[in-house]
Amino acid sequence: CGIVGYIGNRDCAQVLMDALSKLEYRGYDSAGIAVHENGGISVVKAKGNLQMLRDKLEKGGTPQGHCGIGHTRWATHGEPSDVNSHPHGNGKIEIVHNGIIENYREIKEFLLHKGYVFESETDTETVAKLLDYYYEGSPEDTIIKVLGLIRGSYALGMVFKDFPDRIFAVRKDSPLIIGVGENENFIASDVPAILKYTRDYYLIESDEIAEIKMGSIRIFDIRKEAVSKELHTATWDV
Ligand code: GLU
Repeated sequence: CGIVGYIGNRDCAQVLMDALSKLEYRGYDSAGIAVHENGGISVVKAKGNLQMLRDKLEKGGTPQGHCGIGHTRWATHGEPSDVNSHPHGNGKIEIVHNGIIENYREIKEFLLHKGYVFESETDTETVAKLLDYYYEGSPEDTIIKVLGLIRGSYALGMVFKDFPDRIFAVRKDSPLIIGVGENENFIASDVPAILKYTRDYYLIESDEIAEIKMGSIRIFDIRKEAVSKELHTATWDV
């Protein structure tokens, strides 16, 4: 299982598919991508291997855009299926997740009372809906709020329809790195996913939040204080 994200001038869907293919060794049962396209977020996902997703993209059309996230899933909550595949969201906020949200039942119960209707059996969908519930225009405030409510392990990649020029990422006990390019940036579960594009990367620590744009990366903590990072350079080849 793995997560990836891209923002830059290249064809986003193509980079996401390429990066996901480098994470295939981690094992997965389904895959999907979400790309900012024409003022909305286009989501395509499919049970099966990456070829199933590629076929679906070819048949149904590949989202054209420059900012998005991708996922390969290793099902922990809910069988492998199209609906349970990531990204999860409502078109306004879309997320990919690796890990397990331990208190997802409580969260689901809370959201059901608020009138939310769930379509998947995943723990992840509860996080997507919790973000939606608290969202009032500031992704960072919403993410900080939600981080205080979820328990478990997670690497999360998030896109907000209102902010087509950026990706948000956060992690706790699941791996996630930020790839630093020239006028393009990446997120990935592991460095090999992005080595074709860049060797420079930041490591992020638990509950640090990253806001990634084409030309800048901002990392801050849950008190919104900036965290400075050492840039690492991969010296190996894949
Ligand atoms: N727990 C989530 C799910 O079952 C994420 C699994 C993963 O890490 O791929 O959908």
